[in-house]
Amino acid sequence: MKIRVLGCAGTVSTESKTSAFLVNERVLLDSGTICSSLSIEELKTLKNIFISHPHFDHIKGLPSLAETLIFMNEPAPVAIYGSAMTIDSIRQHIMNGIIWPDFSRLPTKEAPVIRYAPLEEQQTVTVEGVSITPWFLYHNYSDFGYLLDDGKSTLLYTSDIGPDAELCVAGKVPDSIIIEVSFPNENRELALMSGHLTPLLMREMLQKLPQMPQKIYVAHLKTYFKEEIISQLEALTLSNLVILQDGDLLEL
Ligand SMILES: [Zn+2]
Ligand SMILES: [Zn+2]
Repeated sequence: MKIRVLGCAGTVSTESKTSAFLVNERVLLDSGTICSSLSIEELKTLKNIFISHPHFDHIKGLPSLAETLIFMNEPAPVAIYGSAMTIDSIRQHIMNGIIWPDFSRLPTKEAPVIRYAPLEEQQTVTVEGVSITPWFLYHNYSDFGYLLDDGKSTLLYTSDIGPDAELCVAGKVPDSIIIEVSFPNENRELALMSGHLTPLLMREMLQKLPQMPQKIYVAHLKTYFKEEIISQLEALTLSNLVILQDGDLLEL
């Protein structure tokens, strides 16, 4: 499985883009960054997007993608997967005909450029040779994490989670994990309140697992605290930990 990191920051800045992970060049996990990183040629092969939750930094790329698809005259729609609450939120509050057109009915109702595909927990979708299964990792029961399995390795994409989230899904520790750390240790209370992690909260969660994943990829650092978070992550001295950067290519 190949992952191209289009964006992995918790904030937009001059040097950072928000969550979007391209799997095997064809499937997207979250959509914080799309058209600012992919060419028109690359967009042509993108037909499946899995959204973790409707926070703006995870859906920000969708409106301009939908508009570009209209101009591209692509015959097949792009499927947008997520929990029913996530899909409803995008429909009602973003591409609702007021903030942005409803591209699930354009250019025509019969042949729109996007197709909403609400998923139930544990409803596996297999696309491009990868099985993708949504899990409610976090206690609010609307945000999905996704477990990816291509038959060779498994990857758990947590997206944004709090410390109560479950990282051992289907009774197994994933081979690799993309996990969020948003705030430095000093902001533990803010992290707990907002359902995010600090380096120490992440380590506490990982230590509850029966064994460590082979690779721990850390994403979603809030840019304002980036240097501090990086030095605190390095101080954990976890040999299998990698702090992701926009543009990274992972081979799993
Ligand atoms: Zn969020
Ligand atoms: Zn986020």
